[in-house]
Amino acid sequence: MKKNNEKIGVKNPKILIAWDEKNPKNQGVDPKEINIRSNRISGWKCPNCGEYFEQSVHAFYFNPICPKCKKVIVPKANSLSVLRPELAKHYSKTKNNISPDLVAAHSNKHYFFECACGNIELRSPNKIQNEHIVCKHCLKQYQTSFFEQALFFYIKKDFPNAENRKLIYGKEVDVYISDLNICVFFHFEFSN
Ligand SMILES: [Zn+2]
Ligand SMILES: [Zn+2]
Repeated sequence: MKKNNEKIGVKNPKILIAWDEKNPKNQGVDPKEINIRSNRISGWKCPNCGEYFEQSVHAFYFNPICPKCKKVIVPKANSLSVLRPELAKHYSKTKNNISPDLVAAHSNKHYFFECACGNIELRSPNKIQNEHIVCKHCLKQYQTSFFEQALFFYIKKDFPNAENRKLIYGKEVDVYISDLNICVFFHFEFSN
């Protein structure tokens, strides 16, 4: 069963745009039925520059790059570009030396990502949960204000007079509960 799921036709039929019908090695073969890990040497043609070349199915499937023009012929099915297009927009094309078409969408390896604030940081796609906020600084701010609002919401249920971000004697407190004359300060720490 597993073998069936690993057919090119199931996993990423788009790479067959480069399948060279005329190459003798490809005669009588239905490429959609070939296992992506097959070592069968096959003929390929680059749709960008027209170069003909021979490579094993396995080699081409996992690294679909033209040996002449070096372009990625088809983005990998599990790539950042295909599965996480919003995050791919933050992928630094100048600082990374591999195309987002080849980077696994949930890779644990580190790549350069450019945040909306302009910061460029090395992050692993797997650790980035918010597709739009990719630097740790912005993420921390985002999470802090989110948790702060959530905590305030619950405090207010018990103390309806609680005030958020109030100035007391010139100092900003996160929450002020006047009934009890209590000031609350939040302190958040995030790992990674
Ligand atoms: Zn080419
Ligand atoms: Zn940022």
